[in-house]
Amino acid sequence: MVFDTHTHTEMSSDSKMPAAQAISAARRAGLGIIFTEHYDADFSGEPGLFRVDAERYLSEYAPLRAPDVLLGVELGLTETSRAANLALVESRAFDFLLGSVHTVWARDIYMDFTGHFTGEAKAKNSERGPLITAEAYFKCVRDMLTSHDYIDSFGHIDYPHRYFSGPAAKLSESFAYAANTEAYDAIFDALIETGTAFEINTRRLGQYAAEKELSLIYRRYAEKGGKYVTIGSDAHNPRDIGANFKKALRIASESGLTAVCFRGRVMEEIK
Ligand SMILES: [Zn+2]
Ligand SMILES: [Zn+2]
Repeated sequence: MVFDTHTHTEMSSDSKMPAAQAISAARRAGLGIIFTEHYDADFSGEPGLFRVDAERYLSEYAPLRAPDVLLGVELGLTETSRAANLALVESRAFDFLLGSVHTVWARDIYMDFTGHFTGEAKAKNSERGPLITAEAYFKCVRDMLTSHDYIDSFGHIDYPHRYFSGPAAKLSESFAYAANTEAYDAIFDALIETGTAFEINTRRLGQYAAEKELSLIYRRYAEKGGKYVTIGSDAHNPRDIGANFKKALRIASESGLTAVCFRGRVMEEIK
């Protein structure tokens, strides 16, 4: 069974999706589902925001567990979150640890690119534009993969690309794959050295240019010796569950990559 390995329900502070609706949507699409609620250990906003209450999550969702319903977590990878992440997952029965880079040097990518600050910070951001560069982002990804070697798969390498509009529109060229092939190679080496799978995030696969670029990225990952991909929609509502999965499965098979999911932290091939 193919799994959507990246989804957020109302246990995540940015989603209102009830778990039951998510499960129904996955089953209608003939997919298994892994919930990956947010845990960004050092998120600087309000307490509790983007930090799942793991006790409540695992106890309330325990009755939902089924061969096609698994419980994971999306861990924010930063310079300072390793100990907190390990403390969260130690002795808790997560099926899957997805690791993601949402910040660079403690600067939130979404905030930096969209300028959704308030007051003085907002004025400053719109005046000088984003501070995070492509060089810094890709180096950060590489460093985080090396220092968070306990994760099962690395999520949405193309996360910054979601926000190349408004103040960040001019960044699109500097972040393109063609302009960063060496940095990507270093990331693929880190994935392979640490035994980390690589997510094909399907969020942007509806755009032809993004699909083409992501195909190149996964082909090169395979050329470098990469073998395993997880496929995740990053759905925050039922209609996005399983979005663009045919395209992701095609990218995997055309690159010679094996699509996998994780159950009880053990990798399984999905078909
Ligand atoms: Zn994420
Ligand atoms: Zn996510």
